[in-house]
Amino acid sequence: MVDSTDMFGAPIEDEPEDESPSAAELEAAGQASMFGDPAPAVREERAPPPVAAPAPAPAPSGQPYRVLARKYRPQTFAELIGQDAMVQTLGNAIRRGRLAHAFLMTGVRGVGKTSTARLIAKALNCVGPDGQGGPTIDPCGQCEPCVAIAEGRHIDVIEMDAASHTGVDDVREIIEAVRYAAVSARYKIYIIDEVHMLSRNAFNALLKTLEEPPAHVKFLFATTEVDKLPVTVLSRCQRFDLRRIQTPVLAAHFGKVCEAEEVQAEDEALAMIAAAAEGSVRDGLSILDQAISHADMAGGGAVTAEQVREMLGLADKTMQRRLFSAVIGGKGDGVLDEVASQFALGIEPTAMMRAQLDLVHKVTVTQIAGAADARSAEEREALEGWAKKLGAGALHRLWQLLLKGYEEVRAAPDPLVAAQMALLRVMHAADLPDPGGLIKQLEAFAANPPAMQAAAPGGGAAPAAAAPPSAEAITRQWAQLVEQVEQVSPLIGSAMRLSVRVVSLTPGHLVYALAPGIPGDPTADMRRGLEGGVGGSWRVERSADLASAMPSLEEARAAAAARDDAALREDPLVRAAFAAFPGAEMIDESAISAETRKPWSKRA
Ligand SMILES: [Zn+2]
Repeated sequence: MVDSTDMFGAPIEDEPEDESPSAAELEAAGQASMFGDPAPAVREERAPPPVAAPAPAPAPSGQPYRVLARKYRPQTFAELIGQDAMVQTLGNAIRRGRLAHAFLMTGVRGVGKTSTARLIAKALNCVGPDGQGGPTIDPCGQCEPCVAIAEGRHIDVIEMDAASHTGVDDVREIIEAVRYAAVSARYKIYIIDEVHMLSRNAFNALLKTLEEPPAHVKFLFATTEVDKLPVTVLSRCQRFDLRRIQTPVLAAHFGKVCEAEEVQAEDEALAMIAAAAEGSVRDGLSILDQAISHADMAGGGAVTAEQVREMLGLADKTMQRRLFSAVIGGKGDGVLDEVASQFALGIEPTAMMRAQLDLVHKVTVTQIAGAADARSAEEREALEGWAKKLGAGALHRLWQLLLKGYEEVRAAPDPLVAAQMALLRVMHAADLPDPGGLIKQLEAFAANPPAMQAAAPGGGAAPAAAAPPSAEAITRQWAQLVEQVEQVSPLIGSAMRLSVRVVSLTPGHLVYALAPGIPGDPTADMRRGLEGGVGGSWRVERSADLASAMPSLEEARAAAAARDDAALREDPLVRAAFAAFPGAEMIDESAISAETRKPWSKRA
């Protein structure tokens, strides 16, 4: 073991806790010495937080400031939040002495993969305060191995970042070193972060050691992208999937951190930070760090919801995704709640609409080009999910509706109400099938339209419907006559259909009135038409008695159409269609072509 000092560098001297080197420095130092790099430890920020790195606030004691994410790195499994299932499994394995040679920690960044790896290293190497203990799920934190591992300077616990050591040579160094026994601890432990970054050759080289590792060696791998690991490696690891941490759990954790830091923080502020952290403790603590320094600068010292809101940017993406989700999920109460809470947070209704438009755009782009631009794993996941779920047609419809809604909100006297209405309208539309599907539904509906007939109102506006049966019979007869006339004299026939109001009709005798505003006297033409088209001899008289005349065939048709139209508009399906296509008009397709009339025509 003469080599080991050279290989791992001179032991770092013990320092007071607050002045000890950062984890990154120690990691860098460990890696540097391990891989023979003479360069001194470099302070580097690994896995930068999503927001700008917090400006270090001066610590009250004047000691160097340590960012919260490092200061509150969990030192026991009990402190590791949100991973109860994993801790239980691991505890069982330790108690039964059934420990794998290699562990794999997976999960999104900042959920505690590296922390877990260090905790496992402690659990395996802890000797207890009296130096007599064995592996334990509850490492003492006091013995030399525990302390050294916590500080990242244990000689037998080697941390390596595969992102910067991807090559086969780096792995060879490990394989060489594996042959030697641990210097002072029970196990020699290799923690390899971002292990998916290793090259294929490096994996192959590692595989032999993984197959038959010496009993004193454990490998702890951590990765955010487990699907990039070769199956051969996966199959030799005990795998722990670290969960994204629930927002309330995060908020409670941040509350405790604030207490420990003696910083006042509003619950709402902590909840917002937790939501923005999207399941990552590290990201959340970075934001909290920033919020605390903002609060310090503002002078009050307390972290307020208002400051956090300002700091995170008003149109908080998580909230907007929640709103979008409610809209396309058809959850009306969710939409209203979300709009209300965003409004309470000071988000302008126009900004809400803009954010929704932005989301539709992003989902559409994701459908075509993938979600490479997503700012977070959470966002990417959401965008990809929607891109799969929503059709291109639906997205373009959402865009149109939201754009219209945005204009309305901008012009409305009460933008909040306008936003609610607009988003609810979008929601109802999102519920609907595509136009193709809608037509199918309408057809199915028209095949069995009980509501329409029941809903058809009688009354003054519809004289034909109100007329007694005899009038109906006359109308039928008259319609037949007109059709017959149209066969032989189309011009006369259409004039009769359009403007002739029947006062009385018996075989061979017609008394009629002319609709107002029609010039000329068609009496002679009509007689000729009737005699030519219907046959027999006809007496045609013009009357001025408009009051007792029935409406012309065309007038009756128009009135009936208006009635049907009103009834149709009352139909829930049609109302929904109008909600989906706000600018739509109802077109009587029989007016377009009687030949191509669909079975669901209202005249059918
Ligand atoms: Zn211990």
